Amino acid sequence: MNIINSQSLLDYNTFKVDVSADLFKIIDNEEQLQKLLEDKRVSKQKKMILGGGSNILFTKNFNGLVIHNKIRGIQIVSENKENVKIKVGAGEVWDDLVAWTTKHNYYGIENLSLIPGSVGAAPIQNIGAYGSELKDTFQQLEAIDLKTKDKIIFNKSDCRFGYRDSIFKKELKNRFIITNVYLKLTKIKSINLSYKILKDNIATTNLKSEDVRKIIINIRNSKLPNPKKIGNAGSFFKNPILEKPQFKTLQKKYPEIPFFEESKIKVPAGWLIEKLNWKGHQEKTCGVYAKHALIIINNNNATGLEIKNLAEKIKESVYQKFNILLEEEVTII
Ligand SMILES: Cc1cc2nc3c(=O)[nH]c(=O)nc-3n(C[C@H](O)[C@H](O)[C@H](O)COP(=O)(O)OP(=O)(O)OC[C@H]3O[C@@H](n4cnc5c(N)ncnc54)[C@H](O)[C@@H]3O)c2cc1C
Repeated sequence: MNIINSQSLLDYNTFKVDVSADLFKIIDNEEQLQKLLEDKRVSKQKKMILGGGSNILFTKNFNGLVIHNKIRGIQIVSENKENVKIKVGAGEVWDDLVAWTTKHNYYGIENLSLIPGSVGAAPIQNIGAYGSELKDTFQQLEAIDLKTKDKIIFNKSDCRFGYRDSIFKKELKNRFIITNVYLKLTKIKSINLSYKILKDNIATTNLKSEDVRKIIINIRNSKLPNPKKIGNAGSFFKNPILEKPQFKTLQKKYPEIPFFEESKIKVPAGWLIEKLNWKGHQEKTCGVYAKHALIIINNNNATGLEIKNLAEKIKESVYQKFNILLEEEVTII
């Protein structure tokens, strides 16, 4: 089996950090994966799964095997007048999948347009945007246990999806490689305009999923840095979720603070960071994006450690000022 030694990961992470992996293998199908896991050279190696590298910050070389998932394919598994169930290879590009669904007039994931990365990574943090989350259409996934090589089916409840969270970020971190994801989409027109910015950008509600996709793409292009041009991994931190008494204290001091009320209260991390004047802040090699305070950018060959140090300074200042401990959304390796 052709396993690459000492592979640069520069083109495999959207932060554009220059690190390498001791061993590297692209897999196109499950048989290759099984063979790889049986290979004597890799059985004792530390392993990590890499999709599009758009939610990862490498702070050092990876001393082990990186498995780059390229398992492709979009298949209709079953359908009726109202719904369609699809099986998607984990190595498909997420946004290509969204484009495919809207081209076929299916509804359900159009609000998740233009999120970078692979289909297999979407369940890891239950990707979300503009009032939709992966879990809204998710049915099940297939994954291979990296230790036992067994194939396991995870239903929705098994995945324990939360806000940018799942069991694969907790108890089962780095234990499985997701190979296929099943989604249930609807053929009946049903668009989700619950998010304010969407309502504000839409003149009529008589829209198809493809129209919503175009609107979302325009909004995202106006606000977010294109990782092909500026190294970044989207939102660096999650929006903190506060207990009501803590929020009330904060709101007394800052009556203008935005928030989303659920059972607890979610406040935008970007607002807290912007309040402390980090937006547009520049260090020698990295900084905070001028249009979005939640995005750390690599604008001059930054190392992962330089980016991490900046993130830590931001986190510390938010903690000192607001007594809120931000949690990273990006996986730091
Ligand atoms: C400009 C920009 C905007 C973004 N906007 C959003 C947004 O709106 N909403 C959002 O939720 N996220 C957003 N993100 C973050 C990112 O795109 C998503 O988290 C995406 O799902 C990551 O996919 P990936 O394939 O690049 O994953 P990677 O970065 O390659 O991996 C992320 C994690 O998943 C694991 N993993 C990847 N593939 C597999 C697999 N097949 N099996 C098991 N584990 C796997 C990795 O080991 C790692 O722990 C944004 C990122 C950027 C750069």
